Amino acid sequence: MISRIEQRCIDKGMKMTDQRRVIARVLSDSSDHPDVEEVYRRATAIDPHISIATVYRTVRLFEEADILERHDFGDGRARYEESAGDHHDHLIDMHSGNVIEFTSTEIEALQREIARRYGYRLVGHRLELYGVPLTSGDKPEEK
Ligand SMILES: [Zn+2]
Repeated sequence: MISRIEQRCIDKGMKMTDQRRVIARVLSDSSDHPDVEEVYRRATAIDPHISIATVYRTVRLFEEADILERHDFGDGRARYEESAGDHHDHLIDMHSGNVIEFTSTEIEALQREIARRYGYRLVGHRLELYGVPLTSGDKPEEK
């Protein structure tokens, strides 16, 4: 079966090799935000002949074709996810590195409003929140 990302590559007229196909599948199946090392680990579990250089090249190729979106979540490692129609923002757990996806209609509306205030129509944005887990000391004070 053709993976979602492979189909998008085909639609864009990209030449698909077996190794690209494997990498496309790994990325299609990833619901987290893997970095290249992680994509490499998952891809070589399917085809051990894939090199890290091939993963780097392929990921860059997919990114340039707007099939992948690159994120930098503050640890200096580029992470990737399929660029999709459904917009979401990210909350990064600074302790575990977990990435939570969220959407907020209030934030979306506020951003549009800010852009409008400066005479712009908003066409996109990037928002990353960084947090640490609440501890008992952080609990809101009782009223
Ligand atoms: Zn995401």
